[in-house]
Amino acid sequence: MQSGKINVNTENIFPIIKKFLYSDHEIFLRELVSNATDASQKLKTLASVGEMKGELGDLRIDIKIDKENKTITISDRGIGMTGEEVEKYINQIAFSGAEEFVEKYKDSKDANAIIGHFGLGFYSSFMVAREVEILTRSFKTEDASEAVRWKCDGSPEFTLEKDSREDRGTDIILHIAEDSEEFLEEARIRTLLTKYCKFLPVAIYFGEEQINQTEPAWTRKPADLTDEDYTTFYKELYPFSEDPLFHIHLNVDYPFNLTGILYFPKLKKNLKFRRIRFSFIAIRFSLIR
Ligand code: ADP
Repeated sequence: MQSGKINVNTENIFPIIKKFLYSDHEIFLRELVSNATDASQKLKTLASVGEMKGELGDLRIDIKIDKENKTITISDRGIGMTGEEVEKYINQIAFSGAEEFVEKYKDSKDANAIIGHFGLGFYSSFMVAREVEILTRSFKTEDASEAVRWKCDGSPEFTLEKDSREDRGTDIILHIAEDSEEFLEEARIRTLLTKYCKFLPVAIYFGEEQINQTEPAWTRKPADLTDEDYTTFYKELYPFSEDPLFHIHLNVDYPFNLTGILYFPKLKKNLKFRRIRFSFIAIRFSLIR
């Protein structure tokens, strides 16, 4: 077993961040599920270019609550990490972001734009957990015994030891802190998953239930969709609205890539002078270089 000190100067970095981001604690789940999604997508890419041998199998993400032990576990079957990668990506990169953050923002009132900007993604788990464990096995390894377990209780000390895991991928195990036990409630977690993860491209399960649509309407070809599909999609997002009047499916390839669905609401006669409000939803935009 190996133990060490995470590269942060401020001993009390955790309480500072926890207090600072008080109102945004719930985002830990979005951050951890997007890391799990990235890890799964990376593996798909490696498989498609022939750098990953073996079966991809069912790439899914599972979120589980254990009320008795007061844990939430986020599991993926993505690329996983070797011991060296945990050293590099968790101890050095994730936590160097935290150090920079405290330096820059300890006297500031502006909490926005911190997460992500400083790569605090994984680190945000300490806003709700008194201890975090990572059990992970890289897709590069051959057998179960090559997994590692990392543990950190919120002080800058961590431990990293050998462990075993049947399949490749990562479990993030959060030991929920006393003041965050609301996150052990199923209804709370389901609401958060629906809020943040509804259109992520890898299947996300909470118990038996799949939370997301991995291929929402705007990512599909117009030729494959009926009018009813468009209306159903709109109703899912705005359940209390009337059916839209009509829609335009945008699909631009050049000079930039843009996909989206523009919905036009019905106009009411007595609201002649009101400006038309469009519902422009579900847009994906990227520049082609
Ligand atoms: P970011 O996701 O912005 O890079 P994070 O702090 O969330 O920052 O994560 C740091 C790094 O740890 C990631 O870039 C990735 O290399 C690694 N990592 C985090 N979660 C996972 C996971 N579930 N599977 C594999 N690697 C992961």
